[in-house]
Amino acid sequence: MRVFKFGGASVKDANAVKNVAKVLKATGFSELLIIVSAMGKTTNAFEKIVDSYLDKTIKTKSLIQDVYDYHHKIVEELFESKQHPVFNKINNLFKDIETTLARNKSTQYDFIYDQIVGYGELISTVIVSEYLNDQEFKNEWLDARDFIKTDDAYRDAAVDWEITQQNITKKVNRKGLSVTQGFIGSNKNNFTTTLGREGSDYTAGIFAYCLNAESVSIWKDVPGVLNGDPRVFENTKLLSHVSYEEAIELAFFGASVIHPKTIQPLQRKEIPLYVKSFLNPSGKGTSVKKGQPLDPYMPCYIVKKNQILLSLSSLDFSFIVEDNISEVFKLFHQHHIKVDLIQNSAISFSVCLDDKFNHFEPLLQLLKAKFKVTYNMGVSLFTIRHFTDKAIQSLEKNKDILLKQITRETYQMVAKD
Ligand code: ASP
Repeated sequence: MRVFKFGGASVKDANAVKNVAKVLKATGFSELLIIVSAMGKTTNAFEKIVDSYLDKTIKTKSLIQDVYDYHHKIVEELFESKQHPVFNKINNLFKDIETTLARNKSTQYDFIYDQIVGYGELISTVIVSEYLNDQEFKNEWLDARDFIKTDDAYRDAAVDWEITQQNITKKVNRKGLSVTQGFIGSNKNNFTTTLGREGSDYTAGIFAYCLNAESVSIWKDVPGVLNGDPRVFENTKLLSHVSYEEAIELAFFGASVIHPKTIQPLQRKEIPLYVKSFLNPSGKGTSVKKGQPLDPYMPCYIVKKNQILLSLSSLDFSFIVEDNISEVFKLFHQHHIKVDLIQNSAISFSVCLDDKFNHFEPLLQLLKAKFKVTYNMGVSLFTIRHFTDKAIQSLEKNKDILLKQITRETYQMVAKD
């Protein structure tokens, strides 16, 4: 069985959805599970809805209406008959959103977020599944929440592999074509949970692992994995072959082309991963497999924007050693703040942080009680894997550098934006 993942850009409008059918025609569609993200920038739009709902602004209704209009337009372009069942299905999903918000009693942001934002994927998969059915790509729509079971860590849920494996083994039809959502799962109480932003790749990894899939293909708007994000770096080149280890490193340092958690389940079962362009399904793209050397071998550039550089020193000039450091890391963990880079000296300790969930303020208050704290918000973390002197020189040009670190294969630098 193969697993395909189509991200937001690959279903961003009616033409893009039609293109999914073209890809399936070119690749064949039996024994296939496809994982679909929310359309275009829908997840961001739902995030705004959640914020507006919690701030009790009057805008919430009109923000929901905007998301409705966007999807309705796509549906109108894809389906000629206004009697088509898809119209009702989409309307019902939007009614569910309104009922969920009206009935909600929780004030917990992360919980509400997951109950609402996951509708992006539910809506997109209904549209894609219905469209494919109409085009003779007969398929079964699956609710990913019946398969992927997680803990209660809303917005960053951890998978319960045992139950997930049982559900997938029992209930996925291995012969035909199935369509399901990326990003979402559910907990023991059947509340929706999400796997973190850009988590649909990870969903593909989870299903592939549990199905012992033959391969996973991620369809993108770029030709494959490039040696840098083309929106940021010039003259980027396609990497044809990448090992699992290299892909994990690249994803960990922030290469947004693959979600960092995706590779591990694939690596464990040696399931090949292909990253390809949905505009050119027969193109070679990138293959990620066991042990293959990086080909072509060249510096790979990664940038993570909007990071925080935090430096701590003790209030009494005592050393920053293991016990303070372990305490600090515990606080990062409790606040769901990810550490990208660490550097320490005798009396100071610096880290570059990714505060995806905006929990830095409360953390800062706790740290200030114990340490002298300095920090820079909105900095960028640049990484070059397989650096050369020339690559470093050109990257450093005109940058206000705050910190640098070099290991055998990896150069990293934090600079002001
Ligand atoms: N729709 C989610 C997001 O935009 C998940 C994904 O697309 O991978 O983060």
